[in-house]
Amino acid sequence: METFSVKAFGTEAPEADLQQMTIDRREVTAKDVEIDILFCGVCHSDLHTARNEWHGTVYPNVPGHEIVGRITKVGNGVTKFKVGDLAAVGCMVDSCRECEQCKHGNEQYCENGNVQTYNGHDIHLNKQTFGGYSERIVVDEDFVLHVPENLDLAATAPLLCAGVTTWSPLKHWNIGPGHKVGIVGIGGLGHMGVKLAKAMGAYVVVITTSPSKVADAKRLGADDVILSTDKEQMRANTNTLHFILDCVSAQHDVNAYLRLLKVDGTLALVGAPEHPLPIAAFSLIPARKNFAGSTIGSIKETQEMLDFCGEHAITADIELINIQDINTAYERLLKGDVKYRFVIDMTSLKG
Ligand SMILES: [Zn+2]
Ligand SMILES: [Zn+2]
Repeated sequence: METFSVKAFGTEAPEADLQQMTIDRREVTAKDVEIDILFCGVCHSDLHTARNEWHGTVYPNVPGHEIVGRITKVGNGVTKFKVGDLAAVGCMVDSCRECEQCKHGNEQYCENGNVQTYNGHDIHLNKQTFGGYSERIVVDEDFVLHVPENLDLAATAPLLCAGVTTWSPLKHWNIGPGHKVGIVGIGGLGHMGVKLAKAMGAYVVVITTSPSKVADAKRLGADDVILSTDKEQMRANTNTLHFILDCVSAQHDVNAYLRLLKVDGTLALVGAPEHPLPIAAFSLIPARKNFAGSTIGSIKETQEMLDFCGEHAITADIELINIQDINTAYERLLKGDVKYRFVIDMTSLKG
């Protein structure tokens, strides 16, 4: 298969800093599009993978799965895109397309494992996939999204992971007017959860450990804020929420949050703490509560989310950085020192 070289930023080992390198991309095949990457969001998964914290990282590793750019080339069988179109790529670039989940449009739950945008298995080149910290990417059009023209492009990038990861469970559990929704944790995911749930018509309650986030939660659209460290506030809100989106990736006591749910309420995890979370049986049994999880979203859901964000003028709150600042950005990300997503201006790699 024909390939071409592009500049990228990646790492050769778990303890090594990210640095500039050269990687190969395949030349477009019939169904592929080539995208000139303009912006790429920085997701906590990038850091976990670069440092092999989830194990199984194949080096070199080039992270990045919140990609927006412009189409520079299309294969002769491409029907959905043309050269010059804005385009986006999220966390997946392919799936088996034959299993029950793929046939039902749930590629993210492909029974054979979807092909992740980075550190996945590239079936074309038979090696690891490389992500968006690079000049260009080549992707099958079925895994490429259209981007609304009215949104700020840099601030749109985080919608591709943080946006759809919160959108998909809110849609799956039919959140809308008349629902009281709790969002636990205001970071990259949580701040998108607040904006999306609010725009869907729900009454949004942010639950945070940090008094310093109260004002920001309201600015993002929260109707109410519960300080989880305040026992009186937690008690006063027992049995009040229909649904909770738990965006916290640190260890935490979910039983305290389950108490806030009404009968038949659901708490869905989208954050991923490293160790198991203990659940008391009586956190669930007396009110038939559900403890659930959700990951990213399908391609169809991702497009619906982008279109919805276009209609409602929703983007992420970002801090734009140059690729050369990525190692510092990772250190700040570890301290939660970003409101609320770093986005890389990819012209800094090309210059
Ligand atoms: Zn991500
Ligand atoms: Zn499949």
